[in-house]
Amino acid sequence: MNLGERVHEIAQQEAGRVAYTFMGKETSYGEFDQSVSKFAGALQELGVEKGDHVAFLLSNTPHFLISLYATMRLGATAVPINPIYSPDEIAYIVNNSDAKVVVALDALLPLVEKAHQALPAVETYIICETDPSTGEKMAQLPDAVKGKIRSFTAILEKAEAFTGTVDIVENDNAVILYTSGTTGKPKGAMLTHGNLYSNARDVAEYLQITPDDRVIATLPVFHVFALTVVVNAPLMQGATIVLVPRFTPQEVFASVKASKATVFAGVPTMFNFMYQLPEVDPADFASVRLAISGGSAMPVALLHNFEDKFNVRISEGYGLSEASPVTCFNPIDRERKAGSIGTSIINVENKVVNELGEEVPVGEVGELIVRGPNVMKGYYKMPEETQAAIKDGWLYTGDLAKIDEEGYFFIVDRKKDMIIVGGYNVYPREVEEVLFAHPAIVEAAVVGLPDADFGEAVNAYVVLKDTSVTIDELKEYCAEHLAKYKVPRNVEILDELPKNTTGKILRRSLKDQAVKK
Ligand code: AMP
Repeated sequence: MNLGERVHEIAQQEAGRVAYTFMGKETSYGEFDQSVSKFAGALQELGVEKGDHVAFLLSNTPHFLISLYATMRLGATAVPINPIYSPDEIAYIVNNSDAKVVVALDALLPLVEKAHQALPAVETYIICETDPSTGEKMAQLPDAVKGKIRSFTAILEKAEAFTGTVDIVENDNAVILYTSGTTGKPKGAMLTHGNLYSNARDVAEYLQITPDDRVIATLPVFHVFALTVVVNAPLMQGATIVLVPRFTPQEVFASVKASKATVFAGVPTMFNFMYQLPEVDPADFASVRLAISGGSAMPVALLHNFEDKFNVRISEGYGLSEASPVTCFNPIDRERKAGSIGTSIINVENKVVNELGEEVPVGEVGELIVRGPNVMKGYYKMPEETQAAIKDGWLYTGDLAKIDEEGYFFIVDRKKDMIIVGGYNVYPREVEEVLFAHPAIVEAAVVGLPDADFGEAVNAYVVLKDTSVTIDELKEYCAEHLAKYKVPRNVEILDELPKNTTGKILRRSLKDQAVKK
């Protein structure tokens, strides 16, 4: 079975169950399934067939859910792209992925108009109207573009539902997700139907997602964390997705309250914004039985503060695009360990190895490697990169980790972010955890900068909520909690830290800026 079939099955068994809510409107599994069949029919009329690629420039609206499931129903491959990437990045991914059709939010119409000549392989752009003036804007486009443009609403209304069956096997690509990886241009991780189905099923089982759950979807749906945890896992269980198109802490609390949501998933930055919001009543979060953190390391101080304030347990997990993404989670029926990413989820093996690929003893740091039905087929059109990432069936994550006696994994840091000061290893995360626990600090990031004497020096960037604290006091505080070589040489106070659209702090850009300076 694949995800599309599973959702179709739920729609037939329980058509009236709510699949998702958006701006206060509920859509049942029956209605969702019908929209999926119709949009699949529309895509077929546009010439999309099994094996073709359809790119999405969409955010958290029903257009994404319908487009994704319709594409999969035809056996075609979806290529979700972050719609706020620069025009060059978008053009690169659309071209590299060989997409034939692009489904885009109406806000991107100017970009389509400008970029369409640079994208010769794209035959059709389907524009999703969210603004009443979009129809008029589409009508005014030059003929050369207009000929390639269709309205999402119009084709959905007119299309004949697709009722055929397509032979889809486990190893067929369901999505290609572009990830920046460690170096160079973004690489397209090919995730198969088997990958997506198994990870959604195993996550849902491990976290005990049931049909009665209402899951907040404010993580951006084009990112793999959202795709599996807040889209596919709830849908395959017949649960309800509560779409929250733009993350603000106020919006999340209001949506939780209105929908009586039971599951919230976010990156640590979101938890931080929610925790810092002054006027919130913790009762507004009372319906949430499970809070899920992933995407980057959850600072232990924030985990405790958030849990105490909102009387909820946070289960931290870990994953990466290449593993669909989840490999570990803190179990919900056993102990959750602060600072840990939990234990291997069902069907997935995780191992910590040395440079030779040999497993290291408990407590020792090595690279985390992963094996299971969730591991990608490879990078699209990049056999060499694929070979470097997957060896003997094990995916090398590029993350340093250790395991304890009870099988809980702890991410130490990214391999490439490790700082070496005079021969000693410094893991930025360890220094960040200390800074984060300081009452005056809201956010912190640590990077290594070139140093003539020691090779590298530790540099910290902090955002303050209490500006009376001095840099010397912060350094003294670090010296009380860390070995001397780990104490930041420089501490810089910033108004905010650079982040990507999933809320991950961009250490790389801090480093680049500092080096330039
Ligand atoms: P992406 O492919 O964009 O999902 O990024 C995957 C990377 O995010 C991983 O290789 C880790 O470096 C990082 N990551 C994800 N979850 C965690 C976590 N819980 N703790 C630390 N790093 C994480």
